[in-house]
Amino acid sequence: MPLPQDLPKNYNFHEVEPRWQGVWRDEDHYFDPVSDRPQFIIDTPPPYPTGNFHIGNAFNWCYIDFIARYKRMLGYNVMFPQGWDCHGLPTEVKVEEIHDITKNDVPRDEFRKMCRELTLKNIEKMRFTLRRLGFSIDWSNEYITMLPEYYVKTQKSFLRMLQAGYVYQSEHPVNFCTRCETAIAFAEVTYEPGETRLNYFDFDGIEIATTRPELLAACVAVAVHPGDSRYTALHHRRLKVPIFGHDVPVISDEAVDPAFGSGAVMICTFGDKQDVHWWKQHNLDLRKAIDRQGRMTAIAGKYQNMKSGECREAILRDMRDQEILLRQEPLEQRVGACWRCKTPIEIMSERQWFVRIVPDEIMAAAREVKWTPGHMFLRMENWIQQMEWDWCISRQRIFATPIPVWFCTRCGEMIVPDESELPVDPTITRPNHPCKSCGSSEVSGEEDVLDTWMDSSISVLNVTGWNGDCIPEIFPAQLRPQGHDIIRTWAFYTILRSVALTGIRPWDEILINGMVLGEDGFKMSKSRGNIISPEEIVEKYGSDAFRQWAAAGATTGSDIMFNWNDMIAASRFQTKLWNIARFVLIQLKKEEFDHTAVPQTLADRWLLAKLSETTAGVTDAMSQYQFDRALKEIREFSWNILADNYIELVKGRLYSKDPARDSACRVLWESLDTLCRLMAPFAPHFAEEVNSCMGEESVHLKAWPVPSYADPEALRQGDLLSRLVAAVRNYKHEGGLALNAPLGRITIFTDQISDDAGDMARALNAEVSWKSDRKALEKKAGDVQFNMAVIGPALRKDATAFMDAIRALPPDQLASPPAFVHAGGKDIPVPDGAFSLRSRYLVGGELVDVITVDDVIVTVRKNP
Ligand SMILES: [Zn+2]
Ligand SMILES: [Zn+2]
Repeated sequence: MPLPQDLPKNYNFHEVEPRWQGVWRDEDHYFDPVSDRPQFIIDTPPPYPTGNFHIGNAFNWCYIDFIARYKRMLGYNVMFPQGWDCHGLPTEVKVEEIHDITKNDVPRDEFRKMCRELTLKNIEKMRFTLRRLGFSIDWSNEYITMLPEYYVKTQKSFLRMLQAGYVYQSEHPVNFCTRCETAIAFAEVTYEPGETRLNYFDFDGIEIATTRPELLAACVAVAVHPGDSRYTALHHRRLKVPIFGHDVPVISDEAVDPAFGSGAVMICTFGDKQDVHWWKQHNLDLRKAIDRQGRMTAIAGKYQNMKSGECREAILRDMRDQEILLRQEPLEQRVGACWRCKTPIEIMSERQWFVRIVPDEIMAAAREVKWTPGHMFLRMENWIQQMEWDWCISRQRIFATPIPVWFCTRCGEMIVPDESELPVDPTITRPNHPCKSCGSSEVSGEEDVLDTWMDSSISVLNVTGWNGDCIPEIFPAQLRPQGHDIIRTWAFYTILRSVALTGIRPWDEILINGMVLGEDGFKMSKSRGNIISPEEIVEKYGSDAFRQWAAAGATTGSDIMFNWNDMIAASRFQTKLWNIARFVLIQLKKEEFDHTAVPQTLADRWLLAKLSETTAGVTDAMSQYQFDRALKEIREFSWNILADNYIELVKGRLYSKDPARDSACRVLWESLDTLCRLMAPFAPHFAEEVNSCMGEESVHLKAWPVPSYADPEALRQGDLLSRLVAAVRNYKHEGGLALNAPLGRITIFTDQISDDAGDMARALNAEVSWKSDRKALEKKAGDVQFNMAVIGPALRKDATAFMDAIRALPPDQLASPPAFVHAGGKDIPVPDGAFSLRSRYLVGGELVDVITVDDVIVTVRKNP
């Protein structure tokens, strides 16, 4: 136990935080699979290993760590796993950059190896940041989605869903990013407003407007409204497509808006979702004009191999030359783009793999989960209700989990591996049995790979030990923490997969956090230059300050703005609390005290009651994940109650040999101990440091405090006492007295408090007596105060005589003055506001000053 003189004057997070990170043991954070304590499993988000654990991740992890630490202190067997969601395009692009190759320059397996190596390096960097921020991660439950043991689970879950009929393949239009050269799911399409041109042109005698003339080669029909009399003659006719010359039918459909443009629209495969709808409904041809790289195909004739944008301009030029371009108008339009690279998406029909979406069963499971904040459930509900297409899970990429399927080259039969063979890469290995349908051994492996959400949507099955045999005993998990930006993807897919594979909900609760905005209030982005890294903040203010910002900066679920002032406020609070702790510890160690002393004095009982009230408030806030409220209560207690009021009240007792010193020491000890526990989830290093200065075992192994002291009378009386002391101090201050200057005699007239054990007297350096009745208080009409600003103009030369007459009035007439006074031989009217009376008070025959606090009167007889 360090001696008080060893306590440094200033709290130095630079030294303290890394020191404790070196002392804490990972084992203390491991989930215990054989424990009989209640479990609390957190299905944490596996971040994408970019090498930078960004501030949005860090904010999310702060919430998780607050909960994990709090639940451990409550006695739960907590699992706080750390996953890494490895696959995806950004890594492929980075590898191409680093090695100056394109993915097609090296064998697929070689390319994957390069991606894995880069990913492992990035993970290592991010682990360092996680440790520096003091997160109590269960490293025994780390998972990496690109490793074989995870492949097994992803592939097994795919095969199980294939057997159960959830997974199927089909030629179907899907959203396609020609930059990433892969299909993407609807949830990965973002819609941004943009401006484009609407081109009106002559289409075989009728006017048609389009924003995408380059799709003319893919035109398969013209549609009109059945009731549009302008086009009745066209029904069942065929029209010739300009520029390209092929024939297309005219169809009539109720969905055509006769008021838009000319009322006739062309249908292409595919301009948008509506085209897909009509194409299915009317059984139209399929004409693919754009290929996977975004270039025009052979059906585009002389435009073949042009990028679609080039082709658009070329066709418009040709339309002008042929004099069929009638006019152009600007048009505001929301364009769907790839969420990763922002390239406008194309809709293409391809053979793809899909997961069947069964909205009712997903909705039923989503309803069983408790959502915090509650309104976030609506986002899920809306998303489920607007589902039109199934989930496209195949991707035409390389660095991803392979789809474990072969096809017989002779008869086309699908061949799947035995589960015991997993993981497999069907482009490298071959099935261990011939085709069951025709007996051929000639197969081709599926080259498409799985959407990364297929990996991450089984995170909860993975951490609970799912292996396909049965529902794990520890499933479902208790909590899923995540951002609101991935409700439609990660939350949705996880529920879908959980229901498909286990039949039940994946977690009991979901906690949604907001996004981190830059100091300018905008989303952080490179182009705005408003990105701030967690490392930068930790270097300046320490991780405990960062964590307090995460807790206090916003209510749970709302977006949080980054703000350096919040870091300053957090470190100021730490300084304040350090000063309190240092003062208290020095006092406590000056002399032994009785730890079991029962508090008798008002101030001590009051503080214990306040401490209990604070503990109850913080516990309630924590249980509802209201971290901002929890921290606010802790700060208010520490700053306002403990430091500004209680310590000032009992300082005198601490310096004395009074027997009541023990009681104050015990109360201070308990306060400090409780504050360490309450602060432990938010500021783990700081709490541990103070706690260790008290000579205690690790605060993180202690129990969460329980509010155990109820004393409503002490709460009421103590609040009054602290207000009385504050009022007299204020009086001293206004009178120009130093706060510790001797004041004289104070009498307090109240029936609410009869004794404060001398605390107030010591705090104010005065004699204090408490009186329950006001008999000793004497009120005297005091001096008359004339208001010359009224008297002068109203009475002029009579003013002096008037004032003499007023002074001569008996006290009862002064209290309610007559309308006239007789002076200088005449009646002089008494003007309104001509004078006032200042009452004077006496106690024991001595003149006193009076201060009132509500109905309590405090008199002060200053030292002569
Ligand atoms: Zn893309
Ligand atoms: Zn076959």
